[in-house]
Amino acid sequence: MRLILFGPPGAGKGTQAARLQDIFGIQQLSTGDMLRMASKGSTPLCAEIAAVMQSGALVSDAIMVAMIKERIAQADCQKGFILDGFPRTREQAIALDVMLKEQGIKLDKVLEIRVDEQAVVARVAGRYSCAQCGHGYHDDFKKPAVADVCDNCGHTIFVRRADDNAETVKARLQAYAKQTEPVLPYYKEQGILVTVDGLQAIDTVTETIVVSIQKHP
Ligand code: ADP
Ligand code: ADP
Ligand code: ZN
Repeated sequence: MRLILFGPPGAGKGTQAARLQDIFGIQQLSTGDMLRMASKGSTPLCAEIAAVMQSGALVSDAIMVAMIKERIAQADCQKGFILDGFPRTREQAIALDVMLKEQGIKLDKVLEIRVDEQAVVARVAGRYSCAQCGHGYHDDFKKPAVADVCDNCGHTIFVRRADDNAETVKARLQAYAKQTEPVLPYYKEQGILVTVDGLQAIDTVTETIVVSIQKHP
């Protein structure tokens, strides 16, 4: 199964992608996570990626397409994948179609997680994750079962993203509205777009997505 998750920063893409990975046994591919990893390197390209991310703008289509093309060809993606954060532009969507055609595979569903700006701001402001395994948490909405201990791996150190500040979030929301939302009609025309109410509780959003995948084969 091949899925795409769309939604503004804080919509719950990463949270839901991790759950869908467990439910369906398909690989989560988060371009944000891949870029955060790449940005830690010491080459000029790594520094450029870090600067673009910090500004809230999008990394170039050429870099993103090359990154995903290499990734989806790997063995752990052959059973399927969930794209979390890609495509984010029309050019990326068209390039994805070309690479899928080359591999003789098709997208099953494109899920738009719809939330409002108020929720986005609250979610991003309280977001943090485990420094060891990357499991996601929220100050108010998703605390670890035992305070300060990761549910997933038992680690006790957590991190917040440098780009989760008010100014960068504003730029990221604008990038979503200007460059990413206009991609949705492309998938609507193909009849594979499903819109999910992302304001529901985390478990309810997961259930809604699973039902929608099964209802529209
Ligand atoms: P995205 O990947 O779309 O940027 P995340 O999955 O990282 O979003 O979620 C953003 C923050 O909001 C995280 O702290 C997460 O725990 C929390 N969150 C995710 N989904 C929900 C939800 N349905 N209700 C409340 N909080 C949520
Ligand atoms: P969020 O989960 O908050 O939506 P991500 O972790 O997906 O954010 O992305 C963080 C940053 O990485 C983006 O603001 C952007 O700079 C860059 N990025 C991630 N995916 C892409 C992409 N497909 N195209 C261009 N830039 C991207
Ligand atoms: Zn952990």
